[in-house]
This record gives sequence, C-alpha cells and structure tokens, in this order.
Amino acid sequence: MFRGMNRAGGRSQKNAPCSAAAAQTNKVTSAGCLGPQCPAHTSLQSLRASTSTNFARSVAAAAVASPAAFNIDSEYANPDRPMKVLIAGAGIGGLVLGVSLLKKGVDVQLFERDMTAIRGEGKYRGPIQIQSNALAALEAIDAEMAEEIMAAGCVTGDRINGLVDGVSGKWYVKFDTYKPAVDQGMPITRVVSRVALQRILAKYAVKYGGEDVIAADTKVLSYEEDQVNGKGRIWACLEGGARHWGDILIGADGIWSKTRTQLVGPGKPSYSNYTCYTGIADYVCADIDTVGYRVFLGNKQYFVSSDVGGGKMQWYAFHKEAADGKDPEGKSKARLMEIFGHWNHMVTDLVAATPEDDVLRRDIYDRPPVFKWAQGRVALLGDSAHAMQPNLGQGGCMAIEDAYELTSLITERLAANEGKPLDCNFEDMLKTYYNKRIFRTSVIHGMAGMAAFAASTYKAFLGEGLGPLEAMTKLQIHHPGRVAGKVAMGLTMPSVLGWVLGGNLSNLKVTDRPQYCRLSDKPQGFDAKDFPMFMADDEALLRAARADWVLAPMLQDGDLSRACAEKAIALEANTTIGSHTSSDLHMEEISNSHARIEVEDGTYYLVDDAESTGTWLNGRRMSSDTRAQLHPGDKLAFGHHSPDLKFEVKMMHSSQRDAGLVSSRRDGSEYRLPVSFRDSRLATV
Ligand SMILES: Cc1cc2nc3c(=O)[nH]c(=O)nc-3n(C[C@H](O)[C@H](O)[C@H](O)COP(=O)(O)OP(=O)(O)OC[C@H]3O[C@@H](n4cnc5c(N)ncnc54)[C@H](O)[C@@H]3O)c2cc1C
Repeated sequence: MFRGMNRAGGRSQKNAPCSAAAAQTNKVTSAGCLGPQCPAHTSLQSLRASTSTNFARSVAAAAVASPAAFNIDSEYANPDRPMKVLIAGAGIGGLVLGVSLLKKGVDVQLFERDMTAIRGEGKYRGPIQIQSNALAALEAIDAEMAEEIMAAGCVTGDRINGLVDGVSGKWYVKFDTYKPAVDQGMPITRVVSRVALQRILAKYAVKYGGEDVIAADTKVLSYEEDQVNGKGRIWACLEGGARHWGDILIGADGIWSKTRTQLVGPGKPSYSNYTCYTGIADYVCADIDTVGYRVFLGNKQYFVSSDVGGGKMQWYAFHKEAADGKDPEGKSKARLMEIFGHWNHMVTDLVAATPEDDVLRRDIYDRPPVFKWAQGRVALLGDSAHAMQPNLGQGGCMAIEDAYELTSLITERLAANEGKPLDCNFEDMLKTYYNKRIFRTSVIHGMAGMAAFAASTYKAFLGEGLGPLEAMTKLQIHHPGRVAGKVAMGLTMPSVLGWVLGGNLSNLKVTDRPQYCRLSDKPQGFDAKDFPMFMADDEALLRAARADWVLAPMLQDGDLSRACAEKAIALEANTTIGSHTSSDLHMEEISNSHARIEVEDGTYYLVDDAESTGTWLNGRRMSSDTRAQLHPGDKLAFGHHSPDLKFEVKMMHSSQRDAGLVSSRRDGSEYRLPVSFRDSRLATV
C-alpha cells in the first residue's frame, strides 16, 4: 500500500554529521546513499567478504565532502513520503521487524555494528529453538520466508521432551509441545542454526528493501529528537559522527543496548549466577527418534541436550558460580567432567564426543523487567527490552512476536491516516505497543528465571546438598520437594505450555497464515497416536528406542590396565558375566557363572546367579538368584571388584554402532570403547 509512494524516488536515506553543524544538509544520490564509498551501497554478498567496512566514518566523511544542496527538512515535511523506521541492530528481532515492515511498504534502515552473525563467523552461533509461537508469527509475516526457516531446522516438537534426573536419567516431567501446536494449528517447534536463521532473515530484508537496507559495521550510539514545522522527527546518531533521520527508532540492539541506556537510564544486565558451557557433537543419544530434548536437573547445575539434526546434538551445561571464571587452555572438558562426571552417561558421553576446541563458555545475563520501553519516537524490542535467561528458549521467540505486534500497530496507524506518517501519533502508538507486549514478555521472563531456579534446586533424594547429612542420600528417599514439584508441574504444564506456545495466536491475523499444522510435521519416530502412551509410560518410551544396550566399564580414574576394562559388551539375551573363559564379560575373582542378562519384550534384566561374591546394582547388593530390571545409567559391580571397578549400563543409538562408544575419564580425556557384539543383530527392536 505504501510502497508505491516509497519507491517513487528510490531509497532516500539522508545523512548529516551529528554535531552543531547538523543543520547543514547533504545531497544524496537518487539511489539513496552517498556513493560507492558508502557501505550502505555494498551488497550483502560483498558485506560477507568485507570485514573492515566502517559505514559511520565513510558517511561522515562523505557528508563533509558533499555540498549542502539538499534540504532534509523539506523531504521530511513532504506529506506524501513513506514512513521511515530506523532499527538499531540486525539481530533476530531487528531483522524480523525489518522484513515485516518492508513488506507493508514502510521504508526501513537497519544499522548493524557487527555482521559476523550473518556471515557465520565468530562465537556463540549455535542453533536455537524457534518455537511454535514464533514460527506462527513468522508465517504471518512472510509465508515463504517462514517455510525456508522451517526447512533449515530440525523438528524437535514432534517428540517427547522434558526434564530428567541428572544422575539417573529417569524422567521427572515430560512436555508435550506437539499437542498445543496441532490443536491450535501452529507449526511444530524446531531447532534452527542461528547463522542459517539470520542469513535467511537478511536475505529477505535485502529482497524487500534492497542491498543497502542493512548498514554494516555501523554502530548506533544515541538518538536525538527534533521537530520540523511542529512535527516530531528522530535522529539515530552513529559512531563516527553521522546521523540518520526517521519517523521512529527501534532499539533492537540486544542485551547491552545503547538505545535502552538512553531511554531507561544506565544500568548493567544482571548476572544470573550461572556460567554456561556449550558445544555441538557428532553424536546422537540412543532415543533420538523418540526424544527431542532433555533438561537434566541437579543441585546448582543443570544440563540441556537437544537434537539439532544431521546426526548432531547440541548441549548447554549450566553451573552456579561467580562471573568471569576462565578455564586453563584446553581444559574445559576436564572442568565439565569435574562438575558433571558423576551424571548420567547421556550427559558425559555427549561432552566426551565434543571436540575440546568446540566447547564455548560464557556467563548468562538477563535484565530485570522494566516498565518503560517507549518514549517519544523511540521504543525497545527483543533483548534490549526484556533480555531473559535462555531456559525456556523463548528470548528470540519473544523478539519475533514483538516485531509482528509492532508492525501490526504501525500498519494500522498508517492506514488510519491514509498512509501519511506526518499525521500519525507515533508516540501514542509506541506506548500501545509496550502495553500490548509487557504482560506476556514479563510472565515469560519470570518463567525463564523460575526454570533456572527449579532446574538447579532440584534434589532427587533427601540429604542432597546437606553437607554432613549427605550420607542420607544412600537411603534413596525421594526428596519431598521433588515429589511435590512433579505433581505441581504435571498438573500445570499442559496449560502453561498451551499459553507459552499459543498465547499470542489471537494477535496474529487469521488471513495472514495457514491455520493448520503441516502433515510433514507429524512425528517421524513414532505414530502420533502413541504420544499419550509415551507421555504416560516411561518404560514404553525406553523400549521404543532403536538402540543397542551395552555394559561399559567406567573410566573415571583413567585406569585401563585391567583387561576387562578395555571394552564394552553388548547386552543381549543370555549375555553372561563370569570367570569362565567363555563368558561374554570375563573377569577373575568372581563366580564361574556369576550373572546373566535376560531380555523380555525389549525389557532388560540382570539375573544374579552368584551365591557368595555378590553383585551390586546402584550401590545395593542384589539378593542371589533374583533378577532386577536394568535402565540406562545403572551402575553395576561384580564380586570382590566392588566398588573399585564399576560398569555402567548404556544405550547407544543403532546408527552409532560402528563408531564404538565414546567414554570420558575424569581428566576430560576421552576414550573410544570398542563394543563387543556377538552377532550383527541389533540388541533391541
Ligand atoms: C545460551 C543461549 C541460548 C539461547 N537459546 C535460545 C533459544 O533456543 N530460543 C530463543 O528464542 N532464544 C534463545 N536465546 C535468546 C536469544 O538469543 C535472544 O533472546 C535473541 O537473540 C534476542 O534477539 P535480539 O534481536 O533482541 O538481540 P540480538 O540477537 O542480541 O541482536 C542484537 C543485534 O544488535 C547489534 N547491536 C548491538 N549494539 C548495537 C549498536 N549500538 N548499533 C548497532 N547494532 C548493535 C548486535 O551486534 C546484534 O546483532 C538464547 C540465549 C542464550 C544466551
């Protein structure tokens, strides 16, 4: 609607030095920039190659060099010009806002100080979860772009997700993010590479806005407001002295936002008390076909693992400690093993499978909610307004929702004024934007903080974290907080998830997006009708894994001198453990036929046949001639070797069979355990 007016004269960004001489105006080319030396002139393609472009300086230089022959004030006062929106920051929020406004015919200029995210360089570029609520908003903004983003992602919402005990790996609470999406006709949650996401967004920004839509390597330092003929105007002041005018300025410049500092006042982000290690490994967990992501809970530490597609998993390890800690060079994995070494093998194997150089560490910050995101012609969006802890995977999703909401309000306001920005009350509109977003973002911000609290105050057994009373944990009495938490979460989780994922749906225009969930989104690992069964039955979920069960020696002290510790054995029906040389796991100083494995309907049991030397399952001696069901993560010890030499029951995805089993020692070094299979059959269905 507004595009025709907008493009009549091409892009017409006007620039002026940010100084007392700012009144002096500068002629720009009809293409809208100051000539070839202006990086806004540079295509996205060449931006990728260029690392040293300094838009601000060259704009300032060009501004000084150009004669003052063009009157910015008269262009501003032109009643037929399009609305111009300045966006500080071309991160997730800024780019989505840019695309959605451009599609509505609004003129947009994005300023990005650091193009490495779009180029794919630099640190912290791992995948992020884009959940149903944000995918639905992206669909409403641009269906083709949303399709491309979804195709680049790995669907995780089509499987069981949830919280497990960090040590045992047993389910605590499961999440069904599939049902809310299907019930409300939204796309299913995905994990998408941050680089792929930003590249797609930038591509669409360039498609709709032209090559100069993102001013690269350009830092917004501050803003100024003035008036022309009684009509307000905003200026973005750039590093190097240049400034750009617009009708409004949106600060999408992230958690350390300069726009926010000026709008809200100085104040640093708050340290969450957690440092976070992260990595991606060429590794998949045994039940990858049925489980999308898991959060492993513990006391002052938690760990998140997620399928990211392509045979890789991403993980985040959170540990409560002071900020600014550093690990000695090459020792991050060793540190992680100190913290998480006693946790379930789904944690330790994933860390072990990650190359040391790929482990990144950073401290987690957020911002306490503020109740001022907008003033005059300036507003905040995304992390600059409501930076939250990453525990719900909703920070970026909220930025996307913000962008949709703001675009809707701008379009409504323009439509009400026949597309004439000079007649619009943008100050009032930006306040409405704040009013519409504050409740939802604040609740989700609070939930993200609560999730960190719940994940790291979790205690499986009475005695945990009680210092001298720690020995009580051996009694394995479930912690009352754990029991109450499980009941409370079981009752509230469906409606909470329904609100987080579907709570913004009524704000999306029904005409803008398909109201259905794609057929391709249906679970690939199992039949959708089995969702309720897997939600209710942990054992059924375990049995559904396409996995080999193995018994692996624990390499905590790096002691591989014992012959039996050199390999892991596959657990199959009638696998034998004994001192007899024909035993599958042959050890000295135990009974001839010490123990054996039984498998019934995909469930694994250990049968203790030894009368004197004993078998220990998770630290408890089994009565002889009894059998006990096994679970991944169970620790076994046989005969006099207990407790020195322990074995761990592990599951290994069938695709990993040839790769062997990566295990990790306490010092962080890793060791690939060959697995002995008696035949080529898979151990389970
Ligand atoms: C470990 C971790 C995991 C996360 N996982 C998820 C997840 O799974 N799902 C999810 O939705 N969210 C996740 N988040 C949160 C998510 O990354 C942020 O909420 C999201 O990036 C916010 O988008 P934004 O556009 O507001 O800010 P950003 O993405 O930070 O973008 C801000 C941009 O502004 C630029 N900039 C900064 N200052 C200036 C300036 N003065 N001038 C010009 N440009 C400037 C920056 O270079 C940057 O490109 C995670 C966060 C962390 C830390």
